[in-house]
Amino acid sequence: MSRPRIVVATRSAHKLRELRELLSPERATLVSLDDVDVTDEALEHGASFAANARLKARFYAGVTRLPTLADDSGLEVDALAGGPGVRTRRFAGENASDAQNNAKLLRELELLPPDRRGARYVCVLALAVPSAAGSRGRPAIAAEARGTCRGRIATEPRGTGGFGYDPIFEPAPEPAGGRTMGLYSPLEKNRISHRARAARRMAAKLRALGF
Ligand code: IMP
Repeated sequence: MSRPRIVVATRSAHKLRELRELLSPERATLVSLDDVDVTDEALEHGASFAANARLKARFYAGVTRLPTLADDSGLEVDALAGGPGVRTRRFAGENASDAQNNAKLLRELELLPPDRRGARYVCVLALAVPSAAGSRGRPAIAAEARGTCRGRIATEPRGTGGFGYDPIFEPAPEPAGGRTMGLYSPLEKNRISHRARAARRMAAKLRALGF
């Protein structure tokens, strides 16, 4: 029998490779939206990371009729009451660059001491499965996993590794002014990142579901 496929709701080869490594399902093969020729785009208008992950997973499971794994992630900053949250990618504007987002966050936290610069990355992964053949039901969420990574916002960018807010995110084990995630190797980041933690939890759930 051929291996079951799970669609990963991404077009990023990087994200697909990362999830393949982190999840390494026993039976299923992970494929991207491009691998199954999906051109539709899910709208991400949920009020939480979990809502967005579920929305994307359900949408693409409906389109592909295959089990679909979607993630949503972002940054929650204590001094911004958990913001930018679901607006992380577009914090400085709809098509803002990472540098613009970083600069805006540094401005908003200007002059705050290290103990008031706390933040965390959050990642939620959701697996949706299509409804039974012939039924008109919506795809159902079969598993969900969450991972967080605590740290603080640096006072200036350091390092060029990773992406997004990594140059201004100091993981919690670092002293104030210590290394940012942008100075971590991919291996170091994968040990503690929100995405890796969520993925390790999801890996166990996939195994339990027979994938
Ligand atoms: P998305 O889940 O791919 O839409 O990512 C949301 C946004 O959160 C990204 O565009 C980044 O700005 C930020 N983000 C998520 N994960 C990370 C990370 O591991 N490092 C840095 N920024 C991240």
